[in-house]
Amino acid sequence: MSMLIPHLQHATLAVMGSEAAFPVRRVYCVGRNYADHAREMGASGREDPFFFAKPADAIMNVADGQTGVMPYPSCTNNLHHEVELVVALGQGGRDLTSDEAAACVWGYAIGLDMTRRDLQGDAKKAGRPWETSKSFDYSAPIGPLHPVAQTGVLSSGAISLSVNAAPRQDGDLSDMIWSVPEALAYLSTLFELKAGDLVFTGTPAGVGAVKRGDLMSASIAGLGSLQVRISD
Ligand code: MN
Repeated sequence: MSMLIPHLQHATLAVMGSEAAFPVRRVYCVGRNYADHAREMGASGREDPFFFAKPADAIMNVADGQTGVMPYPSCTNNLHHEVELVVALGQGGRDLTSDEAAACVWGYAIGLDMTRRDLQGDAKKAGRPWETSKSFDYSAPIGPLHPVAQTGVLSSGAISLSVNAAPRQDGDLSDMIWSVPEALAYLSTLFELKAGDLVFTGTPAGVGAVKRGDLMSASIAGLGSLQVRISD
């Protein structure tokens, strides 16, 4: 079929140890999934998980060993970093059990859920949606995918982020309020999950602002590290 505008490029992720790419369908994000971050954002206890989404083309691929360059976004004076374990699904379904959800995981990556915190605060106060604060261009820098067949299941291990070599975020994957299978199972009651979906699984405490020129270095045990500089 001919296209009336140039055919749109599909978002993809690089895969460690493979020439083949992983096509990205949707990008879901879990909010407040570490107790210490939930507290710093004003929540308490084990509330039901909640979700938002980013468009697939908000992904900014960072190749293994490279430093990505993220443009400082417009319309904010408070750009925040959130380091997150990203889960890529090789299959999906509806109303999954935790065991079924766990079996959907194809691989993992390190991602940054970059946030215009000032616009998010305005949206929360006004009861408005979060897209302008969460779903902007380049808001999802992400490293290459590591197949679960190689890493094994990641349910514990250090997750951290530094800015210009100064520690900012430091947590453990086992501190998630809703584990990866639990969060996926819950998400599958709201949306039919499909192969190609990515899920950002939440961030530990210590989120904060970055400014032009800053270098973020994120690490997750078993996945190496991800470097992203904010452009001048
Ligand atoms: Mn987040």
